Amino acid sequence: MATRIKSLDLANTSTAYYAPATIVQGNARLIHVAGQVGTAKDGSVPADYESQIHLALLHLRKIIIAAGAAVQDIAKLTLYIVDYNPSQRKHARPIQRFLKGHRPAITLVPVTQLAIPGLLFEVDAVIACPEVPASLPAPTSQVTSEVFDVAIIGAGLAGLTAAHEVLRAGLTCVILEARDRVGGKTWSQPLSGGQGGVAEMGAAWINDVNQTKMIALARRYNLELIEQNTTGNCVLQSFDGKASTFPYGKLPQFDQVTLEDVARIRDMCEADCQALDPFTPKSTALDAMTFEAYLRTRDASETSLATAAVWTRAMLGVEPSDMSALFFLNYCKSGGGLLQMRSDRKGGGQHLRIRQGTQSIAGALAKDLPAGIVRLNKPVERVVQDGPSYVEAVDTDGATYRVRKVITTVPSPALRHINFTPRLHPAKEAWSQSAGYGFYTKAIVVFKTPFWIAKGFCGLAQSFVGPASVVRDTSSPADDKHALTCFMSGIPGQAWAALPEAERNEQLLKQLGVLYSDQAAVDRNFVEVLKYDWVGDQWAGYGCPCASLPPGVLDTLGSASLREPLGNLHFAGTETAGDWKGYMEGAVRSGERAAKEVISGLSSTMLPHL
Ligand SMILES: Cc1cc2nc3c(=O)[nH]c(=O)nc-3n(C[C@H](O)[C@H](O)[C@H](O)COP(=O)(O)OP(=O)(O)OC[C@H]3O[C@@H](n4cnc5c(N)ncnc54)[C@H](O)[C@@H]3O)c2cc1C
Repeated sequence: MATRIKSLDLANTSTAYYAPATIVQGNARLIHVAGQVGTAKDGSVPADYESQIHLALLHLRKIIIAAGAAVQDIAKLTLYIVDYNPSQRKHARPIQRFLKGHRPAITLVPVTQLAIPGLLFEVDAVIACPEVPASLPAPTSQVTSEVFDVAIIGAGLAGLTAAHEVLRAGLTCVILEARDRVGGKTWSQPLSGGQGGVAEMGAAWINDVNQTKMIALARRYNLELIEQNTTGNCVLQSFDGKASTFPYGKLPQFDQVTLEDVARIRDMCEADCQALDPFTPKSTALDAMTFEAYLRTRDASETSLATAAVWTRAMLGVEPSDMSALFFLNYCKSGGGLLQMRSDRKGGGQHLRIRQGTQSIAGALAKDLPAGIVRLNKPVERVVQDGPSYVEAVDTDGATYRVRKVITTVPSPALRHINFTPRLHPAKEAWSQSAGYGFYTKAIVVFKTPFWIAKGFCGLAQSFVGPASVVRDTSSPADDKHALTCFMSGIPGQAWAALPEAERNEQLLKQLGVLYSDQAAVDRNFVEVLKYDWVGDQWAGYGCPCASLPPGVLDTLGSASLREPLGNLHFAGTETAGDWKGYMEGAVRSGERAAKEVISGLSSTMLPHL
């Protein structure tokens, strides 16, 4: 839908995240939203600003959806902030994440108190949405109208897995993929210089203990596994930028009090995440606050907070203040627990890599399908359920696929590129719109030799200051290819990405020189840096690796709304998984689950395919 709200800027205002004024274009229904405050489902009010801001914005989002409008229809926001501190501006980040680039006029009103003691933030809005709810434009040309039992949107691991299951059940299907390749967020690029070795621009690691689906696929396709190197020292770069070493599996060299606090916080997160159900996590208290507020209310030291920020940046690209404590703890539980997910050893989230690249699994799955099932360069722009038993998926060329079931594997943040008729259930819509990425990209730095090994490092490093938050060895010794993969994520990664290209490489190499205490070896061995801008990738939903949720969504919408089918539309994709959500394993499991739903739904009305 074309933007109806036009920002009116002065010469010096266009770089701000809000506009000094907005103009409502065309006929619009005006919706005046009363002040929304940050209350949890049970009416309780979290003690900190950020949690309250996230909850108030969720209430606003629900109203916008109920009114049939979108965030892009907001013409004006007024923010009331108690004890406003201009040097902190804690509202700015959550509001920018909420607006996703939309620039309404915003007025900030510092106040001494709101209606109820304890409330720190209130937001009201003026929304201008189309007079008549947008109806679907008729297809311009119906290039084809093919008939299948099932259309699957997306040829990532979830979609390809679903297709195999659907075909095995004797049904027909088509996979419509927007990109010119299969694999989605698995994307393995050959390293320069030929003779083998890949750079994983997307997913890299699996394990052979609890990622049963992925390891089975790797074995089915005879792929070679590379064990993550954990022999030697790890590195911590602290607040002052200085690096210190510690053996793999131990905590860094902190003073005794700090060491005990970091261990206490880590063990507390582990215990709290283990208490949750991976599919249906429930806790109003944990979902009413950000992960940062959870840590602060448990008296985490600044070092423990910085350690936790390394976890959230490396795992999701977000800051602890960006997401709900319940979401993060549940994400950890989904991968078997914080310790298992962070581990590079057997059973851990980063234990094994695939020499030929993880994308080769998607390639092999696609090759194993009968010809004509995978259709590349076919972005689906519309899904219309025009009756109880048929659905039409329409791609951007106007080609129509008439099917009995649709499985979408599209990541939540990318779902907004598809127009659904009828609209998605309000809870699903609120869920998808609330789900957001942080900043996350990998910079794969290739070297002539693994100089860090010779110096007694295993390659694993973490940093409180960045630009890389975490670094891991991603060499392929059998190919004589040596690389350190730097996770550029969260605020430090974003600041780094804003630099000019030459400066980015310079900063990265400088950090590696500090981490492995040998700038000369870094400079002497450096070959190239490879990276991919997932933040600019439309079909990933402008980010990676998995979307996370701010406070309130899990608790008030319930996790069932994530997976619940809407008529003949079924939802898969890694974020819908119970186990290993956000990972390749979760993608495969979600594809199997959605295929099972579809097969059982169609089994009563199976048509013979002669
Ligand atoms: C940098 C990075 C590092 C990661 N590291 C790891 C790791 O080490 N281990 C791990 O297990 N996982 C990791 N992941 C996550 C892993 O890649 C994903 O969990 C998994 O690949 C998701 O698979 P999926 O099928 O659910 O979704 P996707 O792979 O996102 O597939 C969805 C597909 O839908 C397509 N699509 C979107 N919109 C449309 C549309 N409108 N019409 C048609 N097609 C559409 C997309 O192009 C895409 O191909 C990482 C991801 C990234 C990006």
